[in-house]
Amino acid sequence: MLIKNAWLNGCAVDLRVGEVIQQIAPQLTPVIGETVLNARGGELLPGLHDHHIHVFAAAAAYGSLDCDVGSGAVGDCRDRLAQRLRGAAGSGWIRGVSYHEQQLGELDRWALDELCSDRPLRIQHRSGKLWVCNSLGLESLQLNASEQIDGVELDAQGRLNGRIVRNDKLIAQRLTSTGGNVQPDVRGFSRMLARLGVVGVTDTSAHNNQQSRQEFERLRREGDLLQRFNVMGDDSLDSGYLKILLDGDRLPPLEDLVRRINAARTKGRNVAFHCVSHLELVFALAALADASEPEEGFDRIEHGSVISDEMALRLADLGMPVITQPAFLYAKGEQYLADLTEIELANLYRFRGLQDLGVSVVASSDAPYGPVNPWQVIATAANRQTAAGAVVGSRESVHVEDALAGYLTPTSALNQGLPFARARKLEVGMPADVCLLEQRWSEVLGQAGSATVGATLIGGSTVFVKDEYEA
Ligand SMILES: [Zn+2]
Repeated sequence: MLIKNAWLNGCAVDLRVGEVIQQIAPQLTPVIGETVLNARGGELLPGLHDHHIHVFAAAAAYGSLDCDVGSGAVGDCRDRLAQRLRGAAGSGWIRGVSYHEQQLGELDRWALDELCSDRPLRIQHRSGKLWVCNSLGLESLQLNASEQIDGVELDAQGRLNGRIVRNDKLIAQRLTSTGGNVQPDVRGFSRMLARLGVVGVTDTSAHNNQQSRQEFERLRREGDLLQRFNVMGDDSLDSGYLKILLDGDRLPPLEDLVRRINAARTKGRNVAFHCVSHLELVFALAALADASEPEEGFDRIEHGSVISDEMALRLADLGMPVITQPAFLYAKGEQYLADLTEIELANLYRFRGLQDLGVSVVASSDAPYGPVNPWQVIATAANRQTAAGAVVGSRESVHVEDALAGYLTPTSALNQGLPFARARKLEVGMPADVCLLEQRWSEVLGQAGSATVGATLIGGSTVFVKDEYEA
């Protein structure tokens, strides 16, 4: 394929691409039969890689009911949700996502029965930690109070209260065995990512196992998943990061964690810690100090929602990158402003301050728990704005280039802790994974959220193109 009239590194160029970039020159002439893409002067960037995402959950959320009903009194919010539930498409299970107790109050099966009693319903807390089912939902999952399953809550009288904490696996198993499992729309979701310029993903789900990896391989082979992928996951995997979910409320014995890390090390695996609080970060670093060192490359911190200067210096010492999600500020900023103290707000989803202390920081989405749109993520890293336009932690604002750099960093460089302040550039011999903007990057610097993609190529194949770019 020939890409004509692209803007690359400050010059107008043509590119000839196969699986890799073959030629870059001021003018190239199409050979007979060659497909031509007219870039119309738009910026050609390396395709974006989302370094923290949950593909199956995000694909499921893509076809789920949004339970984020906005602000107001709990009663009004519940009315709004009831209305959405009545309007839910299809029949059978309703899967809701992104509910928050600040809007809807604490939920249990009985509260949900009042909102929806004619279809099985499960709704997920916006943190991803918790599901709440209505009574029909519990019945459909064939749960009963006598089983005592991890995470399945009982009330004081020993009845199921509908809440299932951190046991997505159970729900998935029961849905499969009861025929209630609707496959997430990975195909549709992957195409949506392509429209945003995303060519690669790192799935950071802690429950990923051999079977999940095979499922990823199958989806990619069959063309449902267009993006290149990396998978981290549980102790059973032989490669990729071991993802450790730390929960400040119920931390495991330190020696158990050290044992898990050491077992992963024997397979040459490094570790990625989910850390959203200071306590979790302290605990993670304590475990690492007792565990054997990585054979190669570096461990990583996911989220790093709260990092003090002192902890940042330790991370910098260890060479550990922080994979952050600036767009949480956009999506959840109002709540943070209401809930957190000034000091907490100043240490929230830091970026600039961590970089200044020598930590590598990479922006990512954490979709479906954060907004998936990379341009939104990049814009928020710079403007630190909530959806309502308030600014959170302005001192942590970075230049959009710094936020973009993480998306342009290949996973190999990230894993090896290579400096990626200068992200990859498109050069001859590199895989033809590219994202063509409709604008020049310099034109959208001040408002990265408005950047739009005209075409996306993965390994030289067009996975997305707007009509007007096909010459
Ligand atoms: Zn995550």
